[in-house]
Amino acid sequence: MENIEKLFGLLNEHAEKIEKEQNTTLLEGVLDGLEAWLDGELDFSQPDATKEDIRKAIQIAILKGMRKGSQPNHQMTPDTLGLLVGYFVEQIFAERLEHEKIVMMDPAVGTGNLLLTVMNLLDGKVEATGVEVDELLIRLAAATADVTEQPVSLYRQDALQDLLVNPVDAVVCDLPVGYYPNEDVSLNYELCATEGMSYAHHLFIEQSLNYTKEGGYLFFLAPSHLFDSEQSKQLHKYLQKHAWIQAIIQLPDSIFANKTLEKSIVILQKQAKELKAPKEVLLAKVPNMQNKQALALFFEKVRLWKEGK
Ligand code: SAM
Repeated sequence: MENIEKLFGLLNEHAEKIEKEQNTTLLEGVLDGLEAWLDGELDFSQPDATKEDIRKAIQIAILKGMRKGSQPNHQMTPDTLGLLVGYFVEQIFAERLEHEKIVMMDPAVGTGNLLLTVMNLLDGKVEATGVEVDELLIRLAAATADVTEQPVSLYRQDALQDLLVNPVDAVVCDLPVGYYPNEDVSLNYELCATEGMSYAHHLFIEQSLNYTKEGGYLFFLAPSHLFDSEQSKQLHKYLQKHAWIQAIIQLPDSIFANKTLEKSIVILQKQAKELKAPKEVLLAKVPNMQNKQALALFFEKVRLWKEGK
């Protein structure tokens, strides 16, 4: 904790100085600090700080910067959700991770917080690619990946256009929710809306499957109303053809400011000829984190589901 506080203090102090002196945003001040640290002009390092200490300190500095003005769709993925996603990645890939690395992609990588939370949890066992359209966010992701020494290749582009990425074993993604404005690009997708604009979150699911190996897994933080909207029939049909739903895990309502922002973890597997559909789909609700007994029951349910796979 002490390392996190010290590192955050130094980074935040620098960011506030830059914000004032250069009349810029606090978030740009954080980026300036990280890039100066990487260039060796400043040194924020703490003698025994772990990769998680560094990520958490940067996360708090970014959160503070974001509180001063950021669109809801740019919000970083909080630790609670990142750690739960990481837990499921760990469960599903447990056997493989004992003897080999996996390749992962986050096509909406933002600040990199979700991806790097998962990578730190599985330290040394993941190589990753991130895609992000926003210049400031991707630079924050690049700097955080560099200071935490995680191997991430980053591409700044619209993730719904062609990617220079080989198929991956796993996708993690906190889906951007809403309409996708480029109707010409939407036409390349099976999930293009038959009328009006297409949902970006649907197209992101299809694009993620396009870049996943057969039998690979996808871990989405998706709006809770994903299977319950006017375009969801099309999504159901598409998924039946290309993917198997492995799990839908509802998250505690208390995490979200209001009902429209509620999310679930949706785990898919890309279909493969030599594999079979799952015997059982895990449908569960994560209890309130303070309720230890209910939490233990939740993890027991996941364990039984995993054993039955
Ligand atoms: N997991 C990220 C993190 O921890 O910072 C947050 C992801 S945020 C919910 C969704 C991200 O998708 C935003 O950073 C947004 O800029 C990005 N995005 C939205 N549309 C995009 C597109 N067409 N191509 C690439 N990135 C996009």
